[in-house]
Amino acid sequence: MNGRPRVPSILPRGNERGLAGFGPVSRLGANGLDLSGRMQCNMNERMEKIRQLLSELEAETEVAAPGSDRGFSALELPLIIQEIVDDLQPILTPYDAAFYWFLFRHSIAKDGNPLLRVSNRGLQRAVVRSSYSHAAENTISLGKVQDTLRALENIGAIRKEGEPNRQGTLYRVLIPDEIQACREFRADRLAQEPQLAFPATNADCYNVQENRLRVFERDEYICRSCQKQLTRFTATLDHVKGIAEGGDNSLENLITVCVECNSRKNE
Ligand SMILES: [Zn+2]
Repeated sequence: MNGRPRVPSILPRGNERGLAGFGPVSRLGANGLDLSGRMQCNMNERMEKIRQLLSELEAETEVAAPGSDRGFSALELPLIIQEIVDDLQPILTPYDAAFYWFLFRHSIAKDGNPLLRVSNRGLQRAVVRSSYSHAAENTISLGKVQDTLRALENIGAIRKEGEPNRQGTLYRVLIPDEIQACREFRADRLAQEPQLAFPATNADCYNVQENRLRVFERDEYICRSCQKQLTRFTATLDHVKGIAEGGDNSLENLITVCVECNSRKNE
């Protein structure tokens, strides 16, 4: 206890960072000070340290968690935005759409990472104003924020990741290729446009980009080998019967697979 100030600072001392700061309580009484006062003060100090450690832990796990994910590149953004307007927005309410765009802007559009943490209170102020009043300060209710997030979850446009913490809830923002409701909406839309219907049996579905997408659509962007959910940016094509064995580039001879399964097969 040499040199320790009589009233402990609430700031952690340099040599006490981390778990080393959580020493036994009994040493407090050793120099005869008012034990209960010291303990209360020390308790606050420790609580502060616990909070700090928790924040550090949270920050670390959030950095580590998306590592296994593939982020999105800036080049893909225009296509993703087109998909959102074409295949997601038509199945959303105006509030849903506003919230989705806000979450998209602060995740994928910001740095390619589909994960972000938001709090209901933060969203209440940041996204839109209530349509029931003209008052500038009139935010939407917290209940409306929750309803909207739940609606986006039900559609599959966002997904909770892990448990909420003091900073809010960690969400994954999904893009239309990953959202079943969007794929269904797109299939209906394409079925009504005959020129975009499934290609003829002799069409080259390997080299023609539009036709490649038809294979992905047929397979719902799911790897036929490991069942992983893919997007048009992560999906690749594989021949059922190899070209060397007389296979062709027809729709029937092609399947959607992920990069890992594709390269594993070629080894
Ligand atoms: Zn796979």
